[in-house]
Amino acid sequence: MASYQNIESAVIHGGVYGDRTTGAVNVPIYQTSTYEQSGLGQNTGWEYSRTGNPTRAALEALIAELEDGTAGFAFGSGMAAITAVLQLFQSGNRVVISSNVYGGTYRVLDKVFQRFGLAYTIADTTDPAAFEATLTPDVKAVLVESPANPLLTVTDLAAAAELAHRHGALAIVDNTFMTPYLQRPLTLGADIVVHSATKYLGGHSDVVAGLAVVKDASLAERLAFLQNATGGVLGPFDSFLLLRGIKTLAVRMDRHVENAEKAAAWLKGNPAVKKIYYPGLPCAQGYEINRAQAKNGGAMLSFELEDGYDIRKFFSSLKLIALAESLGGVESLVCHPASMTHASIPREVREKVGITDGLIRLSIGIENWNDLRDDLAQAIEGSKV
Ligand SMILES: *Cc1c(COP(=O)(O)O)cnc(C)c1O
Repeated sequence: MASYQNIESAVIHGGVYGDRTTGAVNVPIYQTSTYEQSGLGQNTGWEYSRTGNPTRAALEALIAELEDGTAGFAFGSGMAAITAVLQLFQSGNRVVISSNVYGGTYRVLDKVFQRFGLAYTIADTTDPAAFEATLTPDVKAVLVESPANPLLTVTDLAAAAELAHRHGALAIVDNTFMTPYLQRPLTLGADIVVHSATKYLGGHSDVVAGLAVVKDASLAERLAFLQNATGGVLGPFDSFLLLRGIKTLAVRMDRHVENAEKAAAWLKGNPAVKKIYYPGLPCAQGYEINRAQAKNGGAMLSFELEDGYDIRKFFSSLKLIALAESLGGVESLVCHPASMTHASIPREVREKVGITDGLIRLSIGIENWNDLRDDLAQAIEGSKV
């Protein structure tokens, strides 16, 4: 049995620790596609690396432990993980997604799964009555994110899972923004957790990967079948990079959040800032719910500048914080949702939900806060018109 109680130790010692053969403290990169069998029908438990690879298996055991699930599955991207999970359903079924799910999740449902007869409904999952009204008998799953991109809206995950179950549907949570260090959806009643491990779990903007974790054994069996049958697996080297990244998850997240809380307070008190969205601020939508279901508000925040500031100039004035898609790496990144992550949504629809042309999203890194503050301050100053 594990000789630790806390997740700060589990990220380092969880799953499969080291290598029994050599005593290496790290799981080796088993860069192999196949495994020699000593005779017909006699294998070592490993047959072919799409089906199973020891480096990937170590990562899968680790994420299952961290999310309090029975089994974990590693995929070549977050979208590959979400795709495999959606393949649990079939033609004639329907999935309810929250109105602000990741754009790629919406796209794969709209442009791919719909062609195969899997329908979807978009719901405001922050409003329980509106949410429940979408749960028609054909709904077999709800897929939610909390906090969700880019306005950091909070959905009550325990209530969402309860609602899903009452209507005979599975509850799926994309936990990319929080990671199991800050929020564990399976303990709140969800059935499946998915991650873009490209973000905080990898943590260094150097790997694209996805993970899924399930709560019960029959789901584990079905997802294992799909992972092997459709084959979107993560390679051994990328599995190693994730194992390595996850070891520092706790310390990284602590610093990410410390900086984000300082950034939120500083932006909130700045007369150039019109609006701020951060679930760790008491004035935020869903603050109390988030506080009950997560350790803190995480490290993503969005804001709008007052009239009289030119956001084009703001972006071009930043010197330390890089303009880029993605999030969750050690370096701070800034993005413009209206023209980048949410460009595919028509402007009227975007503006109605609050994703204005002036919205700026920050992924707060682990640099020294004073340097981040100085960069934000000079860019705000430089964007005055
Ligand atoms: C990035 C992201 C994804 C997609 O993951 P990829 O690794 O880019 O395929 C899914 N969900 C959320 C919340 C994300 O931020």
